[in-house]
Amino acid sequence: MGHSTAKLSLDDFPEPEQVVRLRAQLLEWYGRMGRDLPWRRTRDPYAIWISEIMLQQTQVKTVLPYYQRWLIALPTVTDLADADLETVLKLWEGLGYYTRARNLHKTAQAIVKEHGGVFPETARQLQVLPGIGRSTAGAIASSAFGRCEAILDANVRRVLGRLLAVDDPPARAEAKLWEISQRLVDPQAPHNFNQALMDLGATVCTARSPLCLLCPWQADCLGRRSGEPTRFPVRPARTVRSEIAGVSVLIECQGKFLLVRRPERGLLAGLWEFPFVESVGGGEPEETVRMAFGNRLESLERLGQVEHEFTHRHLTAQVLWARWAATLDELPDCIEHREHAWVAPEHWPEYAMPAYVRKICRLQCLQ
Ligand code: SF4
Repeated sequence: MGHSTAKLSLDDFPEPEQVVRLRAQLLEWYGRMGRDLPWRRTRDPYAIWISEIMLQQTQVKTVLPYYQRWLIALPTVTDLADADLETVLKLWEGLGYYTRARNLHKTAQAIVKEHGGVFPETARQLQVLPGIGRSTAGAIASSAFGRCEAILDANVRRVLGRLLAVDDPPARAEAKLWEISQRLVDPQAPHNFNQALMDLGATVCTARSPLCLLCPWQADCLGRRSGEPTRFPVRPARTVRSEIAGVSVLIECQGKFLLVRRPERGLLAGLWEFPFVESVGGGEPEETVRMAFGNRLESLERLGQVEHEFTHRHLTAQVLWARWAATLDELPDCIEHREHAWVAPEHWPEYAMPAYVRKICRLQCLQ
């Protein structure tokens, strides 16, 4: 591949010839090794935007079927703007981080209302829209409109941080990494260059064990030369997950189960779940449930326990089944003012539910 051994550092970065070489090496590698992904075969800003939002925090192989289903159900930005939120959340179900789905919906409506259904072309205009950060804006502007805009997602941050052995504290490194990304992006091929950077991070310069011997930048990379590439860039301190513990109760009445909708804001906003009672003081689950629902719950039975990791929280839910010894119209006091529905198990799939609730559904093959 003819790598030069010229040293690269932030003080002299970028030497114009180094930039030219790095671009050429990366694009040559991408031509051979780049992944063939459906959103790379289109210039439709809507499809590219959907893929970019899905790919935030989620791996390509998980995203692929969701992306395809989404574009069949809602092929244009107007279709998304006109869809009801329930449909949007249902299409998103299982991808996690549901704020992304809600922001897609809001942004589609803003594009239709404020831009006549036509996507803005520059990263600066795109960034104003809900849920579109600087990097996503750069990706859409470069991929859909061929603009010379930089990106800096987690993969790119890692590759560039290692290439230049950036060891500043995370807040300061961020500005440097943006500058490096902006200087490196190839004005002749911004789309391919940015996609190549993402691929390099995803397949070669991986978080735990970078495959430096397969890397087109191995000769210039300061991280590799340090012998400890995984030290770069310095990561923010880990946030400690807080614990949520409680009881999910499957309340049955006439073959139907009570579902309640979570509030429009906060964790898992707008999704449906079985009534969940947080345990305080660590009592027995039956006791916790009786305190919340009173004595119209009968035949309490333990079905098991599920655990789930959210970004900053860990949930442990004991699962109980109970019979509701009243009619469908007489609701437990603690539910009365919440959006709710009595639903037979065969209709549960029609409700957008978070992953931890799906785990509950699978506990006893209730579905
Ligand atoms: S040489 Fe190694 S550490 Fe440097 S960019 Fe390539 S894979 Fe990453």
